Amino acid sequence: MATLIRGITSDGSARIMAIDGKDIVSRASEIHNTTPTATAALGRTLLGSSMMASLMSEPNAKFTMCFRGDGPIGTILCSADYFGNVKGYVQNPSAELPLRADNKLNVGGAVGRGIMQVIRDTGGKEPYIGLSNIVTGEIAEDIASYYVNSEQIPTLCALGVLVDVDYSIKAAGGIIVQLLPFADESLTEKLEKNAMKARTVVDLLCDGGIEALIGEFLDGIDYDVFDCTEVEYVCGCSRERCEKVLLSLGEEDYEEILKEKETEINCQFCEKKYVFSSDELKALRENAKRNK
Ligand SMILES: [Zn+2]
Repeated sequence: MATLIRGITSDGSARIMAIDGKDIVSRASEIHNTTPTATAALGRTLLGSSMMASLMSEPNAKFTMCFRGDGPIGTILCSADYFGNVKGYVQNPSAELPLRADNKLNVGGAVGRGIMQVIRDTGGKEPYIGLSNIVTGEIAEDIASYYVNSEQIPTLCALGVLVDVDYSIKAAGGIIVQLLPFADESLTEKLEKNAMKARTVVDLLCDGGIEALIGEFLDGIDYDVFDCTEVEYVCGCSRERCEKVLLSLGEEDYEEILKEKETEINCQFCEKKYVFSSDELKALRENAKRNK
């Protein structure tokens, strides 16, 4: 289980989200068999998505964040619910780049430049869609820049994933602090100063857990935690959902898959396979027609 903490500064001028998400990133790397760089890129996007989704106000809302960069790992897509449970995939999980000169994983190079997209769907008519340019491909900077440019919310975001030599996850987490309208300037200055001198997210998590992470970024600022919840990597796919997708195909496409002995659907988020025989597909369609 991963831990997600939400809070607010005592003067009410900034919201705080922090996540200790080692289990989420471990699960993702296990499912997708990612290289260390792809693990870090997907992991940071999952952690950011979980925190960003927890800012939504409607319990049935769905959050999606997508990076469409021109780097070797291709598209990264993550989806999360209102509680912060999250799932995701990366187009080329086996892509890997040499380490940077400072010995860090080259996530920015692996993601490249392009467009990032944020979608909040409350199930109503039009989902909210926000777009922003990918500025560094390092994910955290891109999320901060997205909020500033696309939603006009001054935002601080730090994310980190530490992959061990055996490819297991040593630490993973992040923090987002967002200024609310009429926030005091001195608070902005303090937050900026803290962020400049703070150790890395993974160092803080390894040394003192999520409390140390929040403590260092909010040093000298009073804040209240209003909830601390457990979140996880959740897919939620099922045979019934696959049936719905199959039935949504047009008549011609459906005839086409009936010609095959078997049709296999692979879930992109959890790699689960669902196999339908042509007899099952025929029965499925007949049933659907009867129940119309
Ligand atoms: Zn699935």
